[in-house]
Amino acid sequence: MNRSVYVIVGAGQAGANAAAELRRQGFDGRVLLLGDEAHAPYERPPLSKDVLLRAASTRCAVHADGFYDEHAIELRLGASVTTLDPHARTVTLANRESIAYDKLLLTTGARARRLPLLDALGANVHTLRTLDDAHRLAGELQPGRRVLLVGAGVIGLELASSAVDLGAQVTVIEAAASAMGRCAPPLVSEFLCDLHRRRGVAFHFGASLARATRENGEIVLHLQDGTRIAGDAVIYGIGAQPDIALAQTAGLEIDNGIVVDEQCRTSDPHIYAAGDVASRRHAGSGLYRRHETWENAQKQGSAAARAMLGLAPDAEAAPWFWTDQCGLNVQFVGDMAASDWLVRGQLDGSPCVLLGLDEEGALVGAITIELGREMRSARQLVEQRATLAREVWLDPQQTLRALAKKAP
Ligand code: NAP
Repeated sequence: MNRSVYVIVGAGQAGANAAAELRRQGFDGRVLLLGDEAHAPYERPPLSKDVLLRAASTRCAVHADGFYDEHAIELRLGASVTTLDPHARTVTLANRESIAYDKLLLTTGARARRLPLLDALGANVHTLRTLDDAHRLAGELQPGRRVLLVGAGVIGLELASSAVDLGAQVTVIEAAASAMGRCAPPLVSEFLCDLHRRRGVAFHFGASLARATRENGEIVLHLQDGTRIAGDAVIYGIGAQPDIALAQTAGLEIDNGIVVDEQCRTSDPHIYAAGDVASRRHAGSGLYRRHETWENAQKQGSAAARAMLGLAPDAEAAPWFWTDQCGLNVQFVGDMAASDWLVRGQLDGSPCVLLGLDEEGALVGAITIELGREMRSARQLVEQRATLAREVWLDPQQTLRALAKKAP
């Protein structure tokens, strides 16, 4: 019997979910899942939180032990793919083993953006992307240790929260004027920074690094304005870059990621891409965008597997992600660049919802703080682009669930 061979390169969230979806949909050919790390596929959200705070009780594997064998998924760990030949339809591993495929899915993800002036310091300088990174930097988060966090994105703020929980002294150095500037509106970013400040975190915004030195056993970061900030360790999170090396050598179309259509199809008819690495065309706007979120990896992994089997994609949903910091759960859906934000409740740490309206008054984004149970309805309203009077949006007597039922 000549069984089809589907190869997935990248054993993270998207790849592991794609392999599972192929089996859920009844695919009975061979499924190979190739990952270059030593660990079975794991989820990344716990890396900046539970893996650091509750290492012994934290499990972040995508699937239970035994799942891959039970589903005849050939999981190969420590298998680094070095070459992709789209004409011969083969991938080659670092050990020179060549594997032929009928269809290939690239879920190679993204890597932490590097800052050579920090890397040049050597010891006590970290980025956070992998489970091994988390284990390495955990040793730095100790009572009294001075930790310098460069980048106040989601990684920077989540790490600030965990580091303070573990007793470290934290200073955050950010190039932009605000925190989480790419994914949160200014009032939420300011609210979160205030919470961190009350826990002792110092922030330097609009701060460009000029030099980094090691002096008398401590690390010193020198800012362009002459400020010197000394610490014992540096952890930096200044964004991620898609891992497109294989796709590039194979001549696939690239635009800030591997270009894919709504069905995760690349410019090669036998190759698909999903997750952080995929720059996907959105049906409505026609624009290409990459999303670096847990949900995107999960959903695109499934969508790619379905497309490989000739099945139709699910309807597009508004992008959603969450963060946990300073003891609060904050969830975001839709467009965070909305021009007008209404607050249902008080933005003071008590449960509340923020609603983002565009210039025409349509709901395009929403944020829940300690009110995750309202997120499903908020998302529904965002996807409807609901338009309601301001007093209705702000009426505490009406739940978002009730509003979702009556919104036009
Ligand atoms: P990020 O959210 O893009 O934030 C990076 C921050 O670092 C930005 O504010 C950036 O400013 C700043 N920056 C860039 N260069 C800098 C420099 N030389 N010095 C100081 N600051 C600098 O990226 P991230 O925090 O590294 O996270 C990586 C990816 O993982 C992101 O896509 C993030 O959303 C994702 N992630 C998600 C979660 C979650 O969903 N809970 C948790 C962790 C990570 P500019 O914007 O001005 O460049």
